[in-house]
Amino acid sequence: MALRTPDEYIKSIADLGLEIYMFGEKVEDYTNHPIIRPSLNSMAMTYELAQYPEYESLMLATSHLTGTKVNRFTHIHQSTDDLVKKVKMQRLLGQKTGACFQRCVGMDAINALWSVTYDIDQAEGTEYHQRFRTYVQYLQENDLVADGAMTDPKGDRGLAPSQQSDPDLYLHIVERRADGIVVRGAKAHQTGACNSQEIIVMPTIAMRESDEDYAVTFSTPANADGITYIYGRQSSDTRKLEDNDLDVGNKRFGGQEALVVFDDVFVPWERVYMAGEIAHSGALVERFAGFHRQSYGGCKVGVGDVLIGAAALAADYNGAAKASHVKDKLIEMTHLNETLFSCGLACSHEGHQMPAGNYQIDMLLANVCKQNVTRFPYEIARLAEDLAGGLMVTMPSEQDLADEKIGPIVEKYLAGQSAVPTIDRLRVLRLIENLTLGTAAVGYRTESMHGAGSPQAQRIMISRQSNMEHKKELARALAGVGQPAKAKRAAASR
Ligand code: SF4
Ligand code: FE
Repeated sequence: MALRTPDEYIKSIADLGLEIYMFGEKVEDYTNHPIIRPSLNSMAMTYELAQYPEYESLMLATSHLTGTKVNRFTHIHQSTDDLVKKVKMQRLLGQKTGACFQRCVGMDAINALWSVTYDIDQAEGTEYHQRFRTYVQYLQENDLVADGAMTDPKGDRGLAPSQQSDPDLYLHIVERRADGIVVRGAKAHQTGACNSQEIIVMPTIAMRESDEDYAVTFSTPANADGITYIYGRQSSDTRKLEDNDLDVGNKRFGGQEALVVFDDVFVPWERVYMAGEIAHSGALVERFAGFHRQSYGGCKVGVGDVLIGAAALAADYNGAAKASHVKDKLIEMTHLNETLFSCGLACSHEGHQMPAGNYQIDMLLANVCKQNVTRFPYEIARLAEDLAGGLMVTMPSEQDLADEKIGPIVEKYLAGQSAVPTIDRLRVLRLIENLTLGTAAVGYRTESMHGAGSPQAQRIMISRQSNMEHKKELARALAGVGQPAKAKRAAASR
Protein backbone atom coordinates (compact mmCIF):
# COMPACT_ATOMS: atom_id res chain seq x y z
CA MET A 1 0.00 0.00 0.00
CA ALA A 2 1.17 3.53 -0.79
CA LEU A 3 0.98 6.45 1.63
CA ARG A 4 -2.50 6.81 3.06
CA THR A 5 -4.65 9.91 2.71
CA PRO A 6 -6.07 11.50 5.89
CA ASP A 7 -9.54 10.11 5.05
CA GLU A 8 -8.18 6.60 4.52
CA TYR A 9 -6.40 6.84 7.83
CA ILE A 10 -9.52 7.97 9.71
CA LYS A 11 -11.60 5.23 8.10
CA SER A 12 -9.03 2.64 9.12
CA ILE A 13 -9.33 3.76 12.75
CA ALA A 14 -13.14 3.60 12.57
CA ASP A 15 -12.91 0.08 11.12
CA LEU A 16 -10.94 -1.18 14.12
CA GLY A 17 -14.03 -1.27 16.35
CA LEU A 18 -12.06 -0.24 19.42
CA GLU A 19 -13.51 -0.69 22.89
CA ILE A 20 -13.37 2.89 24.20
CA TYR A 21 -15.02 4.18 27.39
CA MET A 22 -15.64 7.81 28.32
CA PHE A 23 -17.80 9.28 31.12
CA GLY A 24 -18.69 5.72 32.17
CA GLU A 25 -20.09 4.71 28.81
CA LYS A 26 -18.85 2.83 25.77
CA VAL A 27 -18.29 5.19 22.85
CA GLU A 28 -19.72 3.71 19.67
CA ASP A 29 -19.02 6.12 16.79
CA TYR A 30 -15.71 7.20 18.30
CA THR A 31 -14.10 8.78 15.24
CA ASN A 32 -16.96 11.29 15.09
CA HIS A 33 -17.17 11.90 18.83
CA PRO A 34 -16.76 15.67 19.40
CA ILE A 35 -14.14 15.17 22.13
CA ILE A 36 -12.16 12.52 20.23
CA ARG A 37 -12.39 13.90 16.70
CA PRO A 38 -10.06 16.90 17.18
CA SER A 39 -7.32 14.53 18.37
CA LEU A 40 -7.90 12.36 15.32
CA ASN A 41 -7.61 15.47 13.13
CA SER A 42 -4.22 16.22 14.70
CA MET A 43 -2.98 12.72 13.92
CA ALA A 44 -4.48 12.96 10.40
CA MET A 45 -2.34 16.06 9.83
CA THR A 46 0.72 13.76 9.80
CA TYR A 47 -0.87 12.14 6.75
CA GLU A 48 -2.07 15.37 5.16
CA LEU A 49 1.24 17.21 5.22
CA ALA A 50 2.93 14.12 3.76
CA GLN A 51 0.86 14.70 0.60
CA TYR A 52 2.25 18.18 -0.13
CA PRO A 53 5.39 18.52 -2.27
CA GLU A 54 6.61 21.51 -0.24
CA TYR A 55 6.83 19.35 2.89
CA GLU A 56 8.17 16.22 1.25
CA SER A 57 11.72 16.48 2.52
CA LEU A 58 10.52 16.78 6.12
CA MET A 59 7.50 14.47 6.04
CA LEU A 60 8.89 11.64 3.91
CA ALA A 61 12.04 9.56 4.08
CA THR A 62 13.52 6.75 2.02
CA SER A 63 13.12 3.43 3.78
CA HIS A 64 16.41 1.61 4.28
CA LEU A 65 14.39 -1.62 4.14
CA THR A 66 12.58 -1.19 0.83
CA GLY A 67 14.13 1.88 -0.82
CA THR A 68 10.68 3.44 -1.17
CA LYS A 69 9.35 6.71 0.24
CA VAL A 70 7.64 6.29 3.58
CA ASN A 71 6.13 8.65 6.09
CA ARG A 72 8.96 9.81 8.37
CA PHE A 73 6.94 8.68 11.38
CA THR A 74 7.59 5.05 10.32
CA HIS A 75 11.24 5.62 9.39
CA ILE A 76 14.37 4.32 11.11
CA HIS A 77 16.82 7.25 11.28
CA GLN A 78 19.78 6.63 9.00
CA SER A 79 21.82 9.79 9.61
CA THR A 80 22.08 12.90 11.74
CA ASP A 81 20.26 14.64 8.89
CA ASP A 82 17.28 12.31 9.52
CA LEU A 83 17.39 13.24 13.22
CA VAL A 84 17.40 16.96 12.40
CA LYS A 85 14.54 16.59 9.94
CA LYS A 86 12.52 14.72 12.53
CA VAL A 87 12.69 17.71 14.90
CA LYS A 88 11.86 20.18 12.12
CA MET A 89 8.89 18.02 11.07
CA GLN A 90 7.61 18.07 14.64
CA ARG A 91 7.91 21.85 14.86
CA LEU A 92 5.94 22.14 11.62
CA LEU A 93 3.18 19.88 12.91
CA GLY A 94 3.01 21.76 16.22
CA GLN A 95 2.54 24.96 14.23
CA LYS A 96 -0.23 23.47 12.09
CA THR A 97 -2.20 21.84 14.92
CA GLY A 98 -1.42 23.86 18.08
CA ALA A 99 -1.74 20.50 19.84
CA CYS A 100 -0.08 17.14 20.43
CA PHE A 101 -0.27 15.22 17.14
CA GLN A 102 0.56 11.96 18.91
CA ARG A 103 2.35 9.99 16.22
CA CYS A 104 5.85 10.52 17.64
CA VAL A 105 5.59 7.91 20.39
CA GLY A 106 5.48 5.08 17.87
CA MET A 107 8.33 6.60 15.85
CA ASP A 108 10.45 6.90 18.98
CA ALA A 109 9.56 3.35 20.04
CA ILE A 110 10.59 1.74 16.73
CA ASN A 111 13.86 3.68 16.68
CA ALA A 112 14.73 2.65 20.24
CA LEU A 113 13.75 -0.96 19.62
CA TRP A 114 15.73 -1.14 16.40
CA SER A 115 19.02 -0.98 18.29
CA VAL A 116 17.87 -2.72 21.47
CA THR A 117 16.62 -5.85 19.67
CA TYR A 118 19.93 -5.95 17.80
CA ASP A 119 21.89 -5.70 21.05
CA ILE A 120 19.82 -8.43 22.73
CA ASP A 121 20.43 -10.79 19.81
CA GLN A 122 24.18 -10.11 19.94
CA ALA A 123 24.31 -10.78 23.68
CA GLU A 124 21.77 -13.57 24.06
CA GLY A 125 21.62 -15.32 20.66
CA THR A 126 17.90 -14.53 20.27
CA GLU A 127 16.16 -13.60 17.02
CA TYR A 128 14.26 -10.49 18.03
CA HIS A 129 15.89 -8.11 15.58
CA GLN A 130 14.82 -9.98 12.45
CA ARG A 131 11.27 -10.18 13.78
CA PHE A 132 11.34 -6.50 14.48
CA ARG A 133 12.64 -5.66 10.99
CA THR A 134 9.67 -7.52 9.51
CA TYR A 135 7.34 -5.56 11.77
CA VAL A 136 8.84 -2.15 10.88
CA GLN A 137 8.48 -2.99 7.19
CA TYR A 138 4.82 -3.86 7.85
CA LEU A 139 4.29 -0.44 9.52
CA GLN A 140 6.01 1.33 6.65
CA GLU A 141 4.25 -0.49 3.83
CA ASN A 142 0.83 0.08 5.39
CA ASP A 143 1.59 3.63 6.64
CA LEU A 144 0.37 2.75 10.13
CA VAL A 145 0.30 4.57 13.45
CA ALA A 146 1.80 2.70 16.38
CA ASP A 147 1.24 3.82 19.94
CA GLY A 148 4.48 3.53 21.93
CA ALA A 149 3.24 2.29 25.30
CA MET A 150 5.79 2.52 28.10
CA THR A 151 4.29 3.96 31.30
CA ASP A 152 2.88 1.43 33.76
CA PRO A 153 0.58 2.54 36.60
CA LYS A 154 3.46 1.60 39.00
CA GLY A 155 1.43 1.32 42.25
CA ASP A 156 3.74 1.72 45.26
CA ARG A 157 6.83 3.44 43.85
CA GLY A 158 8.93 2.03 46.68
CA LEU A 159 8.34 -1.56 45.54
CA ALA A 160 9.62 -3.54 42.56
CA PRO A 161 7.07 -4.83 40.02
CA SER A 162 6.95 -8.35 41.44
CA GLN A 163 6.63 -7.02 45.02
CA GLN A 164 3.43 -5.03 44.39
CA SER A 165 0.34 -6.15 46.30
CA ASP A 166 -1.42 -6.34 42.93
CA PRO A 167 0.90 -8.02 40.38
CA ASP A 168 -0.86 -6.29 37.47
CA LEU A 169 0.32 -2.78 38.41
CA TYR A 170 3.15 -3.39 35.98
CA LEU A 171 2.24 -5.12 32.72
CA HIS A 172 3.59 -8.68 32.70
CA ILE A 173 3.57 -12.08 31.08
CA VAL A 174 1.02 -14.35 32.76
CA GLU A 175 1.50 -17.35 30.48
CA ARG A 176 4.15 -18.59 28.05
CA ARG A 177 2.75 -20.90 25.39
CA ALA A 178 4.24 -22.70 22.42
CA ASP A 179 2.67 -20.17 20.06
CA GLY A 180 3.13 -16.98 22.08
CA ILE A 181 2.59 -15.18 25.39
CA VAL A 182 -0.41 -13.93 27.33
CA VAL A 183 -0.03 -10.52 29.01
CA ARG A 184 -1.95 -8.61 31.66
CA GLY A 185 -1.67 -5.10 33.06
CA ALA A 186 -2.18 -1.55 31.86
CA LYS A 187 -0.35 1.39 30.34
CA ALA A 188 -1.29 4.80 31.70
CA HIS A 189 -1.60 8.19 29.96
CA GLN A 190 -1.10 6.75 26.50
CA THR A 191 -0.81 9.50 23.93
CA GLY A 192 -2.95 8.86 20.86
CA ALA A 193 -3.75 5.27 21.84
CA CYS A 194 -7.30 5.36 20.45
CA ASN A 195 -5.99 6.85 17.19
CA SER A 196 -3.49 4.04 16.54
CA GLN A 197 -3.81 0.85 14.54
CA GLU A 198 -0.99 -0.81 16.48
CA ILE A 199 0.40 -0.71 20.02
CA ILE A 200 4.05 -1.31 20.87
CA VAL A 201 4.46 -2.21 24.55
CA MET A 202 7.74 -1.68 26.40
CA PRO A 203 8.80 -1.96 30.06
CA THR A 204 8.75 1.26 32.04
CA ILE A 205 11.87 0.77 34.20
CA ALA A 206 15.10 -1.23 34.25
CA MET A 207 14.02 -4.65 35.53
CA ARG A 208 15.98 -6.73 38.05
CA GLU A 209 16.04 -10.38 39.09
CA SER A 210 12.58 -11.74 39.98
CA ASP A 211 11.00 -9.26 37.55
CA GLU A 212 11.68 -11.28 34.38
CA ASP A 213 7.99 -11.52 33.47
CA TYR A 214 7.84 -7.74 33.51
CA ALA A 215 10.70 -7.33 31.02
CA VAL A 216 8.40 -7.71 28.04
CA THR A 217 8.16 -5.94 24.71
CA PHE A 218 5.72 -6.75 21.93
CA SER A 219 3.42 -5.25 19.34
CA THR A 220 -0.26 -5.97 18.91
CA PRO A 221 -3.13 -4.75 16.77
CA ALA A 222 -4.93 -2.04 18.75
CA ASN A 223 -8.18 -4.01 18.53
CA ALA A 224 -6.84 -7.33 19.86
CA ASP A 225 -9.16 -9.25 22.17
CA GLY A 226 -8.81 -8.08 25.77
CA ILE A 227 -7.69 -4.48 25.09
CA THR A 228 -9.86 -1.69 26.53
CA TYR A 229 -9.34 2.08 26.38
CA ILE A 230 -10.51 4.44 29.11
CA TYR A 231 -10.38 7.98 27.76
CA GLY A 232 -8.58 10.64 29.78
CA ARG A 233 -10.32 13.91 30.62
CA GLN A 234 -8.70 17.21 29.75
CA SER A 235 -9.48 20.60 31.23
CA SER A 236 -12.52 22.24 29.56
CA ASP A 237 -13.04 19.14 27.37
CA THR A 238 -16.84 19.30 27.61
CA ARG A 239 -16.80 22.65 25.83
CA LYS A 240 -16.29 20.46 22.76
CA LEU A 241 -19.74 18.96 23.38
CA GLU A 242 -21.37 22.38 23.09
CA ASP A 243 -22.59 23.74 19.79
CA ASN A 244 -20.01 26.47 20.06
CA ASP A 245 -16.94 27.30 18.00
CA LEU A 246 -15.50 30.28 19.82
CA ASP A 247 -15.19 28.94 23.35
CA VAL A 248 -13.11 25.85 22.51
CA GLY A 249 -10.28 28.10 21.31
CA ASN A 250 -8.91 25.57 18.82
CA LYS A 251 -11.87 24.08 17.04
CA ARG A 252 -10.19 21.55 14.79
CA PHE A 253 -7.33 20.08 16.77
CA GLY A 254 -6.53 18.54 20.13
CA GLY A 255 -4.52 15.84 21.86
CA GLN A 256 -5.48 12.53 23.43
CA GLU A 257 -4.45 10.42 26.41
CA ALA A 258 -5.98 7.16 27.56
CA LEU A 259 -5.55 4.37 30.08
CA VAL A 260 -5.06 1.19 28.06
CA VAL A 261 -5.95 -2.06 29.80
CA PHE A 262 -4.60 -5.45 28.70
CA ASP A 263 -6.76 -8.20 30.12
CA ASP A 264 -5.08 -11.50 29.18
CA VAL A 265 -4.11 -10.44 25.67
CA PHE A 266 -2.48 -13.10 23.49
CA VAL A 267 0.62 -12.12 21.49
CA PRO A 268 2.17 -14.56 19.00
CA TRP A 269 5.95 -15.03 19.26
CA GLU A 270 6.58 -13.28 15.93
CA ARG A 271 5.38 -10.05 17.58
CA VAL A 272 7.46 -10.46 20.78
CA TYR A 273 10.76 -8.53 20.94
CA MET A 274 11.82 -9.06 24.58
CA ALA A 275 10.60 -11.69 27.03
CA GLY A 276 12.61 -11.85 30.22
CA GLU A 277 15.93 -10.26 29.15
CA ILE A 278 16.10 -7.99 32.19
CA ALA A 279 19.62 -6.78 31.43
CA HIS A 280 18.33 -4.93 28.33
CA SER A 281 15.17 -3.32 29.66
CA GLY A 282 17.05 -0.31 31.06
CA ALA A 283 18.66 0.45 27.70
CA LEU A 284 15.26 0.38 26.02
CA VAL A 285 13.80 2.81 28.55
CA GLU A 286 16.77 5.16 28.16
CA ARG A 287 16.80 5.13 24.38
CA PHE A 288 13.06 5.57 23.98
CA ALA A 289 13.04 8.36 26.55
CA GLY A 290 16.07 9.94 24.84
CA PHE A 291 14.28 10.05 21.49
CA HIS A 292 11.11 11.42 23.05
CA ARG A 293 13.08 14.08 24.94
CA GLN A 294 14.53 15.11 21.56
CA SER A 295 10.97 15.18 20.15
CA TYR A 296 9.93 17.87 22.63
CA GLY A 297 12.55 20.19 21.15
CA GLY A 298 10.34 20.16 18.04
CA CYS A 299 6.66 19.72 18.93
CA LYS A 300 6.55 22.07 21.92
CA VAL A 301 8.43 24.70 19.92
CA GLY A 302 5.81 24.54 17.15
CA VAL A 303 2.99 24.96 19.66
CA GLY A 304 5.06 27.73 21.28
CA ASP A 305 5.16 29.51 17.91
CA VAL A 306 1.36 29.53 17.87
CA LEU A 307 1.18 30.82 21.45
CA ILE A 308 3.71 33.59 20.83
CA GLY A 309 1.83 34.59 17.68
CA ALA A 310 -1.46 34.65 19.58
CA ALA A 311 0.05 36.79 22.36
CA ALA A 312 1.40 39.24 19.77
CA LEU A 313 -2.01 39.41 18.09
CA ALA A 314 -3.71 40.03 21.43
CA ALA A 315 -1.36 42.97 21.98
CA ASP A 316 -2.02 44.24 18.44
CA TYR A 317 -5.78 44.04 18.94
CA ASN A 318 -5.54 45.85 22.29
CA GLY A 319 -3.50 48.64 20.75
CA ALA A 320 -0.63 47.80 23.12
CA ALA A 321 1.85 46.42 20.57
CA LYS A 322 4.13 49.45 20.65
CA ALA A 323 4.68 49.44 24.41
CA SER A 324 8.31 48.57 25.14
CA HIS A 325 7.47 46.01 27.84
CA VAL A 326 5.16 44.20 25.39
CA LYS A 327 7.90 44.02 22.79
CA ASP A 328 10.33 42.80 25.42
CA LYS A 329 7.98 40.05 26.59
CA LEU A 330 7.59 38.81 23.03
CA ILE A 331 11.38 38.82 22.67
CA GLU A 332 11.72 36.81 25.88
CA MET A 333 9.12 34.26 24.71
CA THR A 334 10.92 33.91 21.39
CA HIS A 335 14.29 33.55 23.09
CA LEU A 336 12.99 30.75 25.32
CA ASN A 337 11.23 28.98 22.47
CA GLU A 338 14.25 29.09 20.17
CA THR A 339 16.46 27.85 23.02
CA LEU A 340 14.29 24.73 23.16
CA PHE A 341 14.61 24.32 19.39
CA SER A 342 18.38 24.75 19.65
CA CYS A 343 18.50 21.88 22.15
CA GLY A 344 16.40 19.65 19.88
CA LEU A 345 18.70 20.42 16.96
CA ALA A 346 21.88 20.07 19.00
CA CYS A 347 21.14 16.55 20.25
CA SER A 348 20.27 15.59 16.67
CA HIS A 349 23.39 17.05 15.06
CA GLU A 350 25.50 15.35 17.73
CA GLY A 351 23.84 11.97 17.12
CA HIS A 352 25.85 8.87 16.35
CA GLN A 353 25.50 5.54 14.59
CA MET A 354 24.62 2.49 16.67
CA PRO A 355 26.02 -1.03 16.04
CA ALA A 356 22.56 -1.85 14.61
CA GLY A 357 23.17 0.76 11.89
CA ASN A 358 20.56 3.34 12.92
CA TYR A 359 21.26 6.76 14.43
CA GLN A 360 20.78 7.66 18.07
CA ILE A 361 20.60 11.21 19.45
CA ASP A 362 23.20 12.53 21.90
CA MET A 363 21.77 11.44 25.25
CA LEU A 364 23.17 14.24 27.38
CA LEU A 365 21.89 16.98 25.08
CA ALA A 366 18.47 15.30 24.66
CA ASN A 367 18.07 15.22 28.43
CA VAL A 368 19.14 18.85 28.71
CA CYS A 369 16.53 19.60 26.01
CA LYS A 370 13.72 17.98 27.97
CA GLN A 371 14.88 19.50 31.28
CA ASN A 372 14.49 22.94 29.68
CA VAL A 373 11.07 21.87 28.36
CA THR A 374 9.97 21.23 31.97
CA ARG A 375 10.50 24.98 32.59
CA PHE A 376 10.39 27.24 29.53
CA PRO A 377 6.84 26.54 28.28
CA TYR A 378 5.61 27.54 31.76
CA GLU A 379 7.38 30.89 31.46
CA ILE A 380 6.17 31.33 27.88
CA ALA A 381 2.62 30.56 29.04
CA ARG A 382 2.97 33.01 31.95
CA LEU A 383 4.06 35.78 29.60
CA ALA A 384 1.23 34.94 27.18
CA GLU A 385 -1.29 35.24 30.02
CA ASP A 386 0.33 38.52 31.02
CA LEU A 387 -0.08 39.92 27.50
CA ALA A 388 -3.60 38.49 27.05
CA GLY A 389 -4.99 40.25 30.12
CA GLY A 390 -7.70 39.05 32.46
CA LEU A 391 -10.39 39.12 29.80
CA MET A 392 -9.07 35.75 28.63
CA VAL A 393 -10.79 34.13 31.60
CA THR A 394 -13.67 36.52 32.30
CA MET A 395 -15.24 37.08 28.90
CA PRO A 396 -18.77 35.89 28.15
CA SER A 397 -19.62 32.91 25.97
CA GLU A 398 -20.26 32.66 22.26
CA GLN A 399 -23.98 32.30 23.00
CA ASP A 400 -23.97 35.75 24.62
CA LEU A 401 -22.25 37.19 21.62
CA ALA A 402 -24.84 35.62 19.33
CA ASP A 403 -27.80 36.79 21.38
CA GLU A 404 -29.94 39.46 19.82
CA LYS A 405 -30.12 41.62 22.94
CA ILE A 406 -26.84 40.84 24.77
CA GLY A 407 -24.62 40.39 21.67
CA PRO A 408 -24.35 44.06 20.65
CA ILE A 409 -23.55 45.01 24.26
CA VAL A 410 -20.75 42.44 24.48
CA GLU A 411 -19.40 43.62 21.15
CA LYS A 412 -19.44 47.24 22.18
CA TYR A 413 -17.73 46.82 25.55
CA LEU A 414 -15.20 44.18 24.62
CA ALA A 415 -13.92 46.02 21.59
CA GLY A 416 -10.21 46.74 21.29
CA GLN A 417 -8.77 48.61 18.31
CA SER A 418 -11.71 49.89 16.30
CA ALA A 419 -10.50 48.31 13.04
CA VAL A 420 -10.54 44.83 14.62
CA PRO A 421 -13.90 43.01 14.92
CA THR A 422 -14.53 42.17 18.60
CA ILE A 423 -15.09 38.53 17.73
CA ASP A 424 -11.53 38.23 16.36
CA ARG A 425 -10.11 39.71 19.53
CA LEU A 426 -12.09 37.16 21.54
CA ARG A 427 -11.04 34.29 19.25
CA VAL A 428 -7.38 34.99 19.89
CA LEU A 429 -7.94 35.20 23.65
CA ARG A 430 -9.79 31.87 23.61
CA LEU A 431 -6.89 30.31 21.70
CA ILE A 432 -4.47 31.52 24.38
CA GLU A 433 -6.82 30.15 27.03
CA ASN A 434 -6.90 26.79 25.22
CA LEU A 435 -3.10 26.61 25.04
CA THR A 436 -2.42 27.70 28.61
CA LEU A 437 -5.42 26.44 30.60
CA GLY A 438 -7.65 24.37 28.30
CA THR A 439 -7.38 21.05 26.49
CA ALA A 440 -4.13 21.96 24.70
CA ALA A 441 -2.52 22.87 28.03
CA VAL A 442 -2.35 19.14 28.74
CA GLY A 443 0.17 18.89 25.92
CA TYR A 444 1.84 22.26 26.31
CA ARG A 445 2.18 22.52 30.09
CA THR A 446 1.70 19.39 32.19
CA GLU A 447 3.03 17.11 29.48
CA SER A 448 6.05 19.39 29.18
CA MET A 449 6.66 18.57 32.82
CA HIS A 450 5.92 14.84 32.90
CA GLY A 451 5.86 13.58 29.31
CA ALA A 452 8.95 11.58 28.27
CA GLY A 453 9.76 11.31 31.97
CA SER A 454 9.45 13.74 34.88
CA PRO A 455 12.23 16.29 35.58
CA GLN A 456 14.09 14.09 38.04
CA ALA A 457 14.49 11.36 35.42
CA GLN A 458 16.40 13.80 33.21
CA ARG A 459 18.55 14.97 36.10
CA ILE A 460 19.61 11.38 36.77
CA MET A 461 20.54 10.98 33.10
CA ILE A 462 22.35 14.32 33.04
CA SER A 463 24.32 13.21 36.08
CA ARG A 464 25.20 9.89 34.43
CA GLN A 465 26.20 11.47 31.14
CA SER A 466 28.03 14.46 32.53
CA ASN A 467 31.46 12.78 32.51
CA MET A 468 32.38 14.53 35.73
CA GLU A 469 35.75 12.73 36.01
CA HIS A 470 36.83 14.33 32.72
CA LYS A 471 35.79 17.75 33.99
CA LYS A 472 37.73 17.17 37.20
CA GLU A 473 40.74 16.15 35.17
CA LEU A 474 40.57 19.39 33.20
CA ALA A 475 40.46 21.37 36.41
CA ARG A 476 43.30 19.35 37.96
CA ALA A 477 45.51 19.94 34.94
CA LEU A 478 45.02 23.71 34.95
CA ALA A 479 45.26 24.06 38.71
CA GLY A 480 48.41 21.99 38.81
CA VAL A 481 46.93 19.50 41.25
CA GLY A 482 49.52 16.89 42.20
CA GLN A 483 52.56 19.03 41.42
CA PRO A 484 54.92 19.76 44.28
CA ALA A 485 54.43 23.08 46.02
CA LYS A 486 56.80 25.89 44.90
CA ALA A 487 58.58 26.21 48.26
CA LYS A 488 59.37 22.51 48.30
CA ARG A 489 60.57 22.61 44.69
CA ALA A 490 62.97 25.40 45.56
CA ALA A 491 64.19 23.44 48.55
CA ALA A 492 64.66 20.31 46.46
CA SER A 493 66.71 22.16 43.82
CA ARG A 494 69.12 23.63 46.40
FE1 SF4 B 1 4.66 14.08 19.60
FE2 SF4 B 1 5.02 16.07 21.25
FE3 SF4 B 1 2.76 14.68 21.34
FE4 SF4 B 1 5.01 13.56 22.23
S1 SF4 B 1 3.99 15.36 23.09
S2 SF4 B 1 3.52 12.64 20.83
S3 SF4 B 1 6.51 14.48 20.83
S4 SF4 B 1 3.47 15.94 19.66
FE1 FE C 1 4.49 13.13 24.91
